[in-house]
Amino acid sequence: MSGVLVLNTDDTALHTVSLQHAVGMLVREVAIVEAARDGEQFGPYPLPEVLRLVRYVKTGFLYSRAPGWTKRGVLRRDRHLCGYCGGHAATVDHILPLSRGGQNTWTNTVAACAACNARKADRTPEEAGMELRLPAYAPTRAQVLAA
Ligand SMILES: [Zn+2]
Repeated sequence: MSGVLVLNTDDTALHTVSLQHAVGMLVREVAIVEAARDGEQFGPYPLPEVLRLVRYVKTGFLYSRAPGWTKRGVLRRDRHLCGYCGGHAATVDHILPLSRGGQNTWTNTVAACAACNARKADRTPEEAGMELRLPAYAPTRAQVLAA
């Protein structure tokens, strides 16, 4: 990933920043690490992949509303990488399964490879003993529209 993704407090993506900028935000305590690369450190911090702001930031119109949910959008947001194992993903997993009241929303869906999707089946990640690599979040329009 080039850069560190910054999420607003409501799980909406804001933008990506450089690693240096991300660490500056951690030092100033305006953001916390939401997801980090396993076992990699940057000074005293886990090497961040996704940050979450500590305080909600009001945004302009373009960012204030996430684009409508689509399967294709989820795959693009997650760059076709499985949310569980990091392998190539062509399917979308519902974190809380549809059969149990889960919905087609940005925060309830992640890209998943066929193997992980089959293994998880009609269970939550906790029940299946599987862990999400990155949080599910509402992407910016740019993330979903980029080819
Ligand atoms: Zn997988």
